[in-house]
Amino acid sequence: MREANRIGVSILDAICSEVRPGVATIRFEEIAQDLCRACHVQPAFHGYDGFPFAVCCSVNEEVVHGFPSATRLLHEGDIVSFDFGVIYEGFYSDCARTLGVGEISGQARRLIRVTEECLALGIAEARPGRYLHDISRSVQIHAEKNGYAVIKRFVGHGVGRKLHEKPEIPNFEASRLYPLPLKAGMVLAIEPMLALGTCEVEILPDTWTAVTKDRKLAAHCEHSVAVTSRGPEILSLPAGKGYGAV
Ligand code: MG
Repeated sequence: MREANRIGVSILDAICSEVRPGVATIRFEEIAQDLCRACHVQPAFHGYDGFPFAVCCSVNEEVVHGFPSATRLLHEGDIVSFDFGVIYEGFYSDCARTLGVGEISGQARRLIRVTEECLALGIAEARPGRYLHDISRSVQIHAEKNGYAVIKRFVGHGVGRKLHEKPEIPNFEASRLYPLPLKAGMVLAIEPMLALGTCEVEILPDTWTAVTKDRKLAAHCEHSVAVTSRGPEILSLPAGKGYGAV
């Protein structure tokens, strides 16, 4: 899974490096497909439950599962999130990031920063002796303290030989009645999604793209994290940053 994530993140880095005003979002799909071929890995999302692309590309009010498009151009001030994973020797990687396009508003910058902070706080709880709801609670508290709503419709998940394994990892505290202790050897995809306004989402007629009901901005970030006896090990850090322990 380290190797799956190393490859997956190197492709995600290449996708992110092409973000600029004027680019059509289908460009990111082309990069993803080309590099999967070059690296001899399969894109994890293409065909998953019928999802028609290798990369999820979600712009502004799109929360997750957006489609890359030949007609949708990125504009200065947009924010764009990518969710991407690969299958390497039977194991899945999974990672997501939100980036600004050119100069973005202070409001958008703050939303992205707090989403990343929520992820870091959730990861810090991913250690033996803690419970699943410790991750959920730390994400929710930080988001709400900063005035944002956590999206409840989509949750993180275990990841391994399948893309979505048990347990579900909500970004809100919902699982206290059945406390699940975290154990070394688990790999968790922790993925907070925060919204500027309402947490309610609707699905566009393409049956995939989730947008905020009020069409205000949303941000999403995700790491695949191994729970180890030494603490959390982030498998999906960008190249050069190693496998981090928080
Ligand atoms: Mg995921």
